Amino acid sequence: MSHALLEKTSLADSPLLPVVGQDLAAPLIQGGHVRYANLDYAASAPAVEDVAAHLNEVLPFYASVHRGAGFASQVSTSVYENARTIVADFVGARPDDTVIFTRNTTDSLNLLAGCVESILQARGYAEGRSNVHGELLYLDIEHHANLLPWQKLPHRSVVAASSIESTLARVETQLRAGNVLLLAVTGASNVTGEVLPIAQLAALAHQYGARIVVDAAQLAPHRRIDLAASGIDYVAFSGHKLYAPFGAGVLVGRSDWLDAGAPHLAGGGAVKEVRLESTRWTDGPARHEGGSPNVLGAATLAKAATILAELDASDWHSHEQQLREHLVAGFQNLDGVTVHSLFSDSASYAECGSIGVVNFSVTGYDAGLVAAYLSAEHGVGVRDGKFCAHPLLNRLGLPAGSLRASFGVGSRREDAQRLIDGVAALLRDGL
Ligand code: PLP
Repeated sequence: MSHALLEKTSLADSPLLPVVGQDLAAPLIQGGHVRYANLDYAASAPAVEDVAAHLNEVLPFYASVHRGAGFASQVSTSVYENARTIVADFVGARPDDTVIFTRNTTDSLNLLAGCVESILQARGYAEGRSNVHGELLYLDIEHHANLLPWQKLPHRSVVAASSIESTLARVETQLRAGNVLLLAVTGASNVTGEVLPIAQLAALAHQYGARIVVDAAQLAPHRRIDLAASGIDYVAFSGHKLYAPFGAGVLVGRSDWLDAGAPHLAGGGAVKEVRLESTRWTDGPARHEGGSPNVLGAATLAKAATILAELDASDWHSHEQQLREHLVAGFQNLDGVTVHSLFSDSASYAECGSIGVVNFSVTGYDAGLVAAYLSAEHGVGVRDGKFCAHPLLNRLGLPAGSLRASFGVGSRREDAQRLIDGVAALLRDGL
């Protein structure tokens, strides 16, 4: 079989799963329309068609959960609680782990930070006892969602993640010092797509008596996660990056800290008993889910999890790897495009790999202008800026930002090719 034929029949030629809006027409500045090439899955991924269909299945049962005896309320409650079980299976949760529905990853990590703060307060940490086991450790590549909640707490250390080996070594040095309570790491960089060795980091954290939380906002839509097998204590991710609608996220993990924390949302449903002067809070997920929950968000997030869990893992990975390789190879042929990465020089990079993200700059052009040009002239949607990761962009020498193309199950090779052609046209003809 010729190389050309192999290329033609590869997985990357078509979407792995049909997504809503995959034939959307984008208006071009010079007139006319072109099929929209959505290369911004890492920001928010379009809903998979079956997820959108599920939304319509559950919509007729719209009713408050845990509060009504009526038929719709019973169905809604069971849809909501069933979603919790599906999410637990999706991340390989331990039997006694708690699954809390939140608004998104940011909300989940703030919830956990609130619990950690309660624990530190109970230990008298605020009084400045520096030998208390209570330090927060995180990497300098984190999305602000996995950095700012920890920055609010009293004692923390930051590790520069410049290669996989040096990251593991530096994390171990900090852990060995003995005060780390929690290590917070991303599963995959939202800037470069590179995957972190989370199971190794979990083992290290446990060796020194610390716990680990993984920000899986980028990892969960691309790789299987198994809390029980990897030893990860907590994981957080968002429905809108997992091919489900906006508005729902999850935090899953060990229940002792979650039950020890002050309720994330004080209100109806989070209590055992309320008197005018005092309240007894309930345990479990309800402790943090005060108010009427987002049933549709939970149901669609769970549906997306079911669909991803049924994917053939090797097809899932090959599809986006082929797209990524096609784009990187196309960029390598262009004089004036730089692809940015963190770990590609690391010996263990091959083991961890990367999700379908390519971060790049075009020499001599502002990232925002390139993104606007690609949209207006070529119907290509990419993200530009600092990706809510200012410390990392500064360290990479990109204080003004860069561009990010990202793929998912609805992507196809022609999307990547349109981006290559668009950047080539820019380099040839200018703006
Ligand atoms: N963490 C990472 C790695 C992300 O990429 C993002 C969003 O881009 C977030 C956290 C925050 O996700 P959300 O905006 O859904 O809370």
